[in-house]
Amino acid sequence: KIVVLDGYTLNPGDLSWDGLKALGDVVVYDRTPAEKTIERIGDAQIVFTNKTVIDQEVFSACPNIKFIGVLATGYNVVDVEIAKTKGIPVANIPTYGTTAVSQITIALLLEVCHHIGEHSRSVLKGDWTNCQDWCYWNYPLIELAGKTLGIIGFGRIGQATAKIAQALGMKVLAFDSYEIEELKSDTLQYVGLDELLANSDVISLHCPLFDSTKGIVNKNNIAKMKDGVIIINTSRGPLIVEEDLAEALNSGKLYGAALDVVSSEPIKADNPLLTAKNCIITPHIAWAPKESRSRLMDIAVDNLAKFLAN
Ligand code: NAD
Repeated sequence: KIVVLDGYTLNPGDLSWDGLKALGDVVVYDRTPAEKTIERIGDAQIVFTNKTVIDQEVFSACPNIKFIGVLATGYNVVDVEIAKTKGIPVANIPTYGTTAVSQITIALLLEVCHHIGEHSRSVLKGDWTNCQDWCYWNYPLIELAGKTLGIIGFGRIGQATAKIAQALGMKVLAFDSYEIEELKSDTLQYVGLDELLANSDVISLHCPLFDSTKGIVNKNNIAKMKDGVIIINTSRGPLIVEEDLAEALNSGKLYGAALDVVSSEPIKADNPLLTAKNCIITPHIAWAPKESRSRLMDIAVDNLAKFLAN
C-alpha cells in the first residue's frame, strides 16, 4: 500500500501516476494537513511526502512504514534520525531540479538588478517617465559583469548557478565543507565564510538546512557584508533570520533580496519580509517546471522499485 501525502505539488494533473501504480495500491492525496497525516498513512508500508512532516508522532502511530520517498531534494520534513533507528530508508531526490533551481536563482538575481516586473507593470499602467526616475534614484539598475557572487553550499545547484554567473562575467567565491580541486579557476575560488561575506556583491544560499546552517544569514553575518549586497535564497527559508534580513533591507545596509523560500510556508501575514524594501518573494516554485517534475517522478518510481527488488 502506497500513500502519496501531497501529490499536487509534484503532479497537478500533467503527469501520470502509472509508474507508481505498477508497484502497488496507490492512494494520492493532493495535500495533507498535519492533523490528517496519521489517519491517511494508516497501515501503509510506503509513504511519499513533499512538504508533509513525518516526525516522532507519525512514526509511533504508523508502525508499518517500511520506506519513505521524499519528493524533493531537501529532506528536512522527515526526522531521519528516527527513521535510521527504525531501519526505514528515506530516499530523497537530489538531482532532478539542478537546472531549474539554478535557472531561477539567476532569474531572481536579474529581477533584483533590473526590476523588470516593476517597470513593466508601470508601463502597462501608462507610467513611462516616473518609473524611469524611480529606477535611477531609488533602486539604480545593476550590471553584474565584474561583480562577485558568493555561494554558500557549493553542491549541484551552487555549481550550476556558478556556471551561469561566470557566463555573465561574474567572479565566484564558494564556501563549502568540501572543496573540489577541478572546479577552481581564475574566476572561481573556495574561501572561508568570513572571506565570502566580506567580499561578495551577491550572496546566494545553496546549502541544505542543518543545525549548522540554520540562521546563517543573521545580524552578525550581515554586519560582515559590504554595503549594498543582494541576498538570494532558493534553498530553505530557515537559513535566514528573517527579522534581521528585513531590518538590513529597510535600513539600506543591503540593496535587495529575492527569496523562493521562507521560514514558514505558506508565508505568514506578519512575516516582516512582506513589507521590507526591495524584497522579491516567490512561493517555493524553483523546482516546478514540468521537465524537472517529470524527472522527479521517474526517479521516485525508480527508487521505490529498487527498494522493493531488495
Ligand atoms: P547538494 O547536496 O548537491 O549541495 C549542497 C552542498 O552544501 C554540498 O556541497 C554540501 O557539502 C554543502 N554543505 C553542507 N553543509 C554545509 C555547511 N554547513 N556549510 C557550507 N556548505 C555546506 O544539494 P543541491 O542539489 O545543490 O541542493 C541544495 C539545496 O537546494 C537543497 O538542500 C534544497 O534545500 C534546495 N532546493 C530547493 C528547491 C526549491 O524548489 N526552492 C529545489 C531543490 C533543492
